[in-house]
Amino acid sequence: MRTLTVPSTTPATTAPVSPGRQALDSALFQLDQAADRLDLDDSLRAVLATPRRSLTVSVPVRREDGRMDVVQGFRVQHNITRGPAKGGIRFHPGTDVHEVTALAMGMTWKCALAGIPYGGAQGGVSVDPASLSARELERVTRRYVNEVLPIVGPERDVPAPEVGTDRRTMAWIMDTYSVNAGYPVPGVMADGSAACGGAPERAEATSRGVRFATLRAMRGSPGGRTVAVQGFGKVGAPAARHLADAGALVVAVSDSTGAVVNRSGLDVDGLRAWSKETGGVRGYPEADPLSHDDLLELDVDVLVPAALEGAITEENAPRIRAGLIVEGASCPTTPGADRILADAGVTVVPDILANAGGVIVSYLEWLQEAQARSWSAREVDARLRGLVENAFDTVAEVSAECGITLRQAAHVIGVGRVAEAHRSRGL
Ligand code: NAD
Repeated sequence: MRTLTVPSTTPATTAPVSPGRQALDSALFQLDQAADRLDLDDSLRAVLATPRRSLTVSVPVRREDGRMDVVQGFRVQHNITRGPAKGGIRFHPGTDVHEVTALAMGMTWKCALAGIPYGGAQGGVSVDPASLSARELERVTRRYVNEVLPIVGPERDVPAPEVGTDRRTMAWIMDTYSVNAGYPVPGVMADGSAACGGAPERAEATSRGVRFATLRAMRGSPGGRTVAVQGFGKVGAPAARHLADAGALVVAVSDSTGAVVNRSGLDVDGLRAWSKETGGVRGYPEADPLSHDDLLELDVDVLVPAALEGAITEENAPRIRAGLIVEGASCPTTPGADRILADAGVTVVPDILANAGGVIVSYLEWLQEAQARSWSAREVDARLRGLVENAFDTVAEVSAECGITLRQAAHVIGVGRVAEAHRSRGL
């Protein structure tokens, strides 16, 4: 197998490899495997391994006490051959250009797999939002948007909320962009508040997609099946709720403050209220405490990683007892862990399939705008379900036909469609 690399922006060093670099190495490994199966030539492989545009910016932050900090921001458009770029914006202290590139690449394959006409992008700022006041956060967001303004826009590249960002961030983005344009541009971001033109159902779209993918993978009723969810944010918390609504027993949940378990089933709404009030799931009185590691290794039917990348590694994979893993998070499983899980017969529904709900509903929003129509939340949900189930069935078919994992099959389909778009456009 030929090894794909992208030019590094950092000098060679003996420093430990960052989680972002590991995520990018995993993404390149998956691309490499798919390219081998598709027999892509070297030049097309090189194009697909390299971001189309990668912008690194400095974001000065004026703190409340008058100090000035400078943090780095990024916007990477991995591929725009199938349509304008879409992708989240992450505010996290560990964010670097490698992580952003890996996530942008995953977004390209995700849109192609879902059959929606978008390319893949991702943005990020290496800042801890919890360490900033609301005014500082607003200043960071607005300054970041001004710096990446030349490459974003409704026809070019549309940001969405991701780790550490939310509807308020999207509203600031929309306002900053609109002030520069001189007129309101609600289409510059996905998932704004309803007042800014965002569809209310977009907020939970990713977790609805996780639910549909999980039920499809279970091939039957989830009644009584036990679930553990790692990460209790915009994806994890509503996913827990939707799985409980479907009849599953959500027995354990974690976030950055800790993990909790109740083998009789957690009251997900009660836990959400506790988390909102206290800042995390830790200390929830209706459950027992658990370590972060133990949550991943619990004896449950389904594990939903919905936090950050690199949660399931070669080290802990042999101890995972769930028979089904549904990746709400992006890149939560390393390639080494993947091999161990496959050998152990664990089914892994890959991120580019399981967490595609958000970008699918962005596309459905765009369709409604283009047709000057408005679908009910129920209609949007039915279409989302159809697209997720259709993608799942196609992936399962290729997986069975070729004797490969669901992740490998999903990449063969996603990468294959993007490669075909390159060929047909004569690029
Ligand atoms: P978020 O910031 O809303 O939530 C992240 C959650 O993970 C928080 O509860 C945080 O406390 C928790 N967390 C962090 N480190 C943890 C650890 N070590 N152990 C347990 N929990 C930990 O972010 P989000 O938008 O929910 O995104 C989560 C994942 O889903 C990311 O990988 C993201 O790329 C992916 N994703 C999100 C969307 C979306 O629409 N928001 C779409 C596609 C993919």
